[in-house]
Amino acid sequence: MCCQCGGAALSSVNPFRLCGGLRVLGYLMLPLVAAIAGAVYYAVVAAVWGPRIVKHGHVSDLALFIVILFHLLLVMVIWCYLRVVFSDPGSVPHDWTPPVEQGVIGQSDVQDPSIDTGIRHCARCQNWKPLRCHHCSVCDRCVLKMDHHCVWVVNCVGARNYKFFLLFLVYTFLETALSALALLPHFISLFSGESRHTDSTMNLSITFIASVLSAAFALSLLCFICMHVSLVLTNTTSIEIYEKKSSALWRYDLGNFKNFEQVFGTKKRLWFFPLYSAEDLENISALQGLEFPIQANAV
Ligand SMILES: [Zn+2]
Ligand SMILES: [Zn+2]
Repeated sequence: MCCQCGGAALSSVNPFRLCGGLRVLGYLMLPLVAAIAGAVYYAVVAAVWGPRIVKHGHVSDLALFIVILFHLLLVMVIWCYLRVVFSDPGSVPHDWTPPVEQGVIGQSDVQDPSIDTGIRHCARCQNWKPLRCHHCSVCDRCVLKMDHHCVWVVNCVGARNYKFFLLFLVYTFLETALSALALLPHFISLFSGESRHTDSTMNLSITFIASVLSAAFALSLLCFICMHVSLVLTNTTSIEIYEKKSSALWRYDLGNFKNFEQVFGTKKRLWFFPLYSAEDLENISALQGLEFPIQANAV
């Protein structure tokens, strides 16, 4: 669903030009996603379940429940989406230099591979790259604890908006799964001939397309969420998957629960919202994206 341009370099194609095209693709996706969302909204709320809330003077609890849940999830999807799009994923402060204990300091060491420390220098930004930081060719800048560049949100996903991105995935999955399940009985009854439909052809077409797209989105999102759950629980970014495979001991792995807190914060009441407490933002260094706690065995 998302493209990763972190370290990819094609020998015969200028990767920077290729990634610039992906930015344009991202802007083209926005009206497409808005059109799909509009069709699903129309199908679930206006065509199928809205008219059933009050029928023949009776209120349907099921129809009311589905319409209210649909709107609550929609609010969460939009809120998380806006937070991913408009949050800075994390950029390297202009005057940042590696801490002495972490690595080399000074321009004379620019060529030093710094293998032991992981500290690198970015030739394009002319700046130091902290641990887990990567240069995004689409945004053309270094991103702290970069996970990937996502064309769907037209932004990079990094240290400061990864939680928002994950919540966006989860709420979008719940919304699309609800839509698919809510529209499915409508079709079964129509195709099995149990009920004679009075829908217009346009209504039927939109409802059918919306249900198929909802089911397809829900299934693909579920796979994507499963992958990210395993990444969160092992404190790994999408870019680091291969690096982790080749290392016997993953130094950022602090245990499942602590790894989870490194992304979602320590305040349980905020786990389900695209927010952090001021305390977490101050105390969890991984959210600032410049330094990361390392497991005791790896020191
Ligand atoms: Zn850079
Ligand atoms: Zn980017």
